[in-house]
Amino acid sequence: MNLTCVDCSREYDADADRTRCDCGGLLDVTLPLSDEIDRGTFDQRLGTWAKPDVSGVWRYRELLPTFADQHIATKPEGNTNLYDARTLAQWLGIDQLWLKHEGENPTGSFKDRGMTVATSHALKVRARMVACASTGNTSASVAAYAAEAGLPAVVFVPDGKISPAKLGQTVAYGARIVQIRGDFDAAMTLVQQASAELGIYLLNSINPYRLEGQKTILFELLHQLEWRLPDWIILPGGNLGNSSALGKALAELQQTGVLSHLPRMAVIQAEGASPFYEAFRSDFRSFEPMEANTIASAIQIGNPVSYSKARRAIELTDGVVESVTDDEILDAKARIDQSGIGCEPASAATVAGLQKLVHSGVIGRGDSVAGILTGHLMKDSDAVMTYHLGDAAADRPLANRPVVIDPTMDALREVLRDEL
Ligand SMILES: *Cc1c(COP(=O)(O)O)cnc(C)c1O
Repeated sequence: MNLTCVDCSREYDADADRTRCDCGGLLDVTLPLSDEIDRGTFDQRLGTWAKPDVSGVWRYRELLPTFADQHIATKPEGNTNLYDARTLAQWLGIDQLWLKHEGENPTGSFKDRGMTVATSHALKVRARMVACASTGNTSASVAAYAAEAGLPAVVFVPDGKISPAKLGQTVAYGARIVQIRGDFDAAMTLVQQASAELGIYLLNSINPYRLEGQKTILFELLHQLEWRLPDWIILPGGNLGNSSALGKALAELQQTGVLSHLPRMAVIQAEGASPFYEAFRSDFRSFEPMEANTIASAIQIGNPVSYSKARRAIELTDGVVESVTDDEILDAKARIDQSGIGCEPASAATVAGLQKLVHSGVIGRGDSVAGILTGHLMKDSDAVMTYHLGDAAADRPLANRPVVIDPTMDALREVLRDEL
């Protein structure tokens, strides 16, 4: 096991105290993967309540970095539902839509899958303190896993730019919170300096161990589909860690012979935070960071750290990148919510982008699609209340406004007139 630079292929020790290569490139964990991965082992572990096998991350540990049992910090995590989203598939006009709900992780987002592996690595290298910059979900996850592991944590968040629920979660789990006067990208720069100068273990997705854990979204998804591949896998892109992790997971499954061909990947960005989409449109000839602005705060990132890895994932899978407006995100979210599944705004970019790609014919009506919902509905109740009760609600066909009535049967009959 090594760290390998994705740009110049230089290798470092797997526990080297660094997040980048000397050339500035990102690092990958390269695993000594066996070409005899036995899928039956994964099935067997489904039959136990014991840690770590019960974790939807560590169940797949033959495909992950190795740790001694005493270093594994697991809650456990993963084991998220894969919904057969028939109502949404019908609305989109496609035959098959699966939605994997990563908002069903312990702290309400997929970040927990990466955090269990990276926190375990922090324990292995005897970190004194852990840190991250965050648009909210990473900070909640860091705070919870640091508590699980008994490590002090400090999180850097852009002041006023994360949802109250996510800030509240982080406060509650007990991490030290530093609110930065600036945006996420400024917080990200500062935390990298702090990590280098103060020797604090960095838990952002620039840490390659985070991405190792996030690979298991794909492993568990395919396991749930009994290893039948969907034609497309679609997910939102912000800092692009998850897109990178999915690409690496696919490459490794191909390398170990578990998969003979690959699904195509579609990454969806919010229009106001779409540097990856713009780069894709230039055939990756240019990449320009931008000032990010979107209602989907979890993907409000203008200078994605994992750009080069995500580009590799798109190229590997003959993938596409699409962008959607905030209104498209909010309307898709209302549909997902009203199908009884629900998610936070950033996750709804998945379905908004899918709608656009079906409309433009990139995704065929007969294609099977697996979408990733990244965060839980309750992560951003402000977005829900504004959509359904705010000033613009009257113009939104899906708005569901509560009514206030006198406590009489007559008043109730009047309200339910059309439904009964
Ligand atoms: C972190 C996050 C994203 C973005 O994932 P990246 O790996 O940064 O691209 C999307 N949705 C939610 C809910 C998130 O928490």
